[in-house]
Amino acid sequence: MAAKVDQEMCIGCGACTGVCPVGAITLNDEGKAFVDADVCIDCGACTGVCPVGAITLE
Ligand code: SF4
Ligand code: SF4
Repeated sequence: MAAKVDQEMCIGCGACTGVCPVGAITLNDEGKAFVDADVCIDCGACTGVCPVGAITLE
């Protein structure tokens, strides 16, 4: 389990990167959020702040 970002939906706002308590989210070269599944602790904080609903826990 880990948060997953829909790369089509992400607008690169960066909101999710600031709320992740373990720093698992970074913006990649395309300006899209990427979650390191090995670091994510499934807290769900990022899913609530994404303005376009691009992040899901699976
Ligand atoms: S679910 Fe929590 S730990 Fe995982 S990427 Fe989102 S904010 Fe970070
Ligand atoms: S909050 Fe949503 S739109 Fe903004 S960078 Fe994160 S995944 Fe992309």
